[in-house]
Amino acid sequence: MCGIVGYIGKRKAAPILIQGLKKLEYRGYDSFGIATLGNPIEIYKHEGKISEHAGSASTLNGTTGIGHTRWATHGVPNDTNAHPHTDCSGRLAVVHNGIIENYAELKRQLMSRGHKFRSETDTEVIVHLLEEKYQGDLLAAMHATLPQLQGSYAILALAAGENRIIAARQASPLVIGRGDGEFFAASDMTPVLEHTERALFLEDGDVADLSLQNVTIYHGGQPVERKTELIDWSFEDTKKGGFPHYMLKEIYEQPQAFYNTVKACPPEILASMIKKPSQVTLVACGSSYHAGMIFRYLLEETCKVPARLEFASEFKYFPPPVNGLVIGITQSGETADTLSALKQAKSHNCWTLAITNVLGSTVSRVADDTVYMRAGPEIGVAATKSFTSQLAILMQMVTCLSDRKVCDLLLHGHRAIEEVLLKDLAPAVDLCRKASSIFFVGRGPFYPVSLEGALKMKEISYIHAEGYAAGEIKHGPFALLSPETPVIAICMPDETYGVMLSNIKEMKARGAPVIALGLEGDSELTDIVDMFIPLPKTHKFLQILTSLVVLQLLAYHTAVTLGRDVDKPRNLAKSVTVE
Ligand code: GLU
Repeated sequence: MCGIVGYIGKRKAAPILIQGLKKLEYRGYDSFGIATLGNPIEIYKHEGKISEHAGSASTLNGTTGIGHTRWATHGVPNDTNAHPHTDCSGRLAVVHNGIIENYAELKRQLMSRGHKFRSETDTEVIVHLLEEKYQGDLLAAMHATLPQLQGSYAILALAAGENRIIAARQASPLVIGRGDGEFFAASDMTPVLEHTERALFLEDGDVADLSLQNVTIYHGGQPVERKTELIDWSFEDTKKGGFPHYMLKEIYEQPQAFYNTVKACPPEILASMIKKPSQVTLVACGSSYHAGMIFRYLLEETCKVPARLEFASEFKYFPPPVNGLVIGITQSGETADTLSALKQAKSHNCWTLAITNVLGSTVSRVADDTVYMRAGPEIGVAATKSFTSQLAILMQMVTCLSDRKVCDLLLHGHRAIEEVLLKDLAPAVDLCRKASSIFFVGRGPFYPVSLEGALKMKEISYIHAEGYAAGEIKHGPFALLSPETPVIAICMPDETYGVMLSNIKEMKARGAPVIALGLEGDSELTDIVDMFIPLPKTHKFLQILTSLVVLQLLAYHTAVTLGRDVDKPRNLAKSVTVE
């Protein structure tokens, strides 16, 4: 997790770093800090969010600097543990994203050689190791230090008296932005887009030397070329555009994102990538896992192709699939568990396909093939438009393996999403905000929809919420039902309808208020529930999308009513780059 940013050029570095860190806050926001090559190295760091504690940070001097917004892995979030970290002399400064797995042993050795540690972080060993190797050339010191590190890192380092930034990457993302007479380094392109669209993605094992004149990349100690790519995300996409929160903006961007993604993945292209697999395995985490589960229902039902779905973090504990197609779904393209599951699948001769939103992200280099969503940058920590864009690709896969007529339907899917964006959910929000616990239930593909609805609700409103297969709720959770535990039931007129109605009646009989999402005009359902949220009559695939969007809005408005920080919910970060 965490975001790092670096700048070298002719402009004052501090304001550019602060601005950049604000854009990266979705990656971590428990503390932040910057270091600039001022007189000699100036540092400002603070616990808390940059938007609240930037204070005098932008007054730091110098036209070269590095910055960090943290999601703590080692050591509590406080001023001391915030990055940058410095060596004993204060001549060297480092920011780091990742985990140094052998830090305890390195720290013991460094302390026995007299180094004084200030923080509890794993990161601090890096800067003391650099100090031991430093003889006036930071690049040489970095090359000598990296072989001692085990784990994951994206590192930016400064040395007083040398106008350069040395960057290194191993299993944590790092991109270099090429401006005119200036260079940027960052965890992703969002802080760079304001300045340039030209990017260069570092590979694992790369070390980059950014100077005023040039950027030189080394691999295995030798200079190498990395292609400069043009990024088609716009700077405007990274702003709130008049919305009170990124999350609401991103919910409203879903019709466009869905359309762009369907358009960019024509069935012919997808069909050539997936062929007709005899077996499909999906690996994913969080919301992406729920997208994978929806896909599994649709694939097995529509195409009769067996599919296996695993949490990426659990994949390694089962015998791996032999051959077959393994699809890894990750919005950021950096999710550590998904990357490691795909690597494992590859080592067992599986064909691996990645679905991601971020061009140049690590997963595209790990997987054999990559399909990109066209959601644009998603800044809110809770996945919204990336989730529906994942579904756009996955539904398109199902349709191209079965009934291509549905492809046309997906091309118009954005209209169904548009229809539900303006739903008045105030009465449902009022019920949810007072709840101690909320259950979301559905059957078939609406079961993962309920899981996703519950995840959205708990992550941003902090109300305990659980998604359940409606038939399962009798096997335990019934004990929790009361007038204080609303149930959100997704009940569509398919083969599950009759049994869903029975489940709803059973839950009502235990005193739980029920809010139902169903198709407009469903008077039978309306009559038995406390609140009815009508959705447009559409194809089943689009019912999945419209019900998801309504659940996103319900979570959003509930969280706002409760005064939560919806874009940066406590303890979370968007890109989970540690296992
Ligand atoms: N492991 C480092 C720390 O806890 C970096 C964490 C991060 O990537 O934010 O400070």
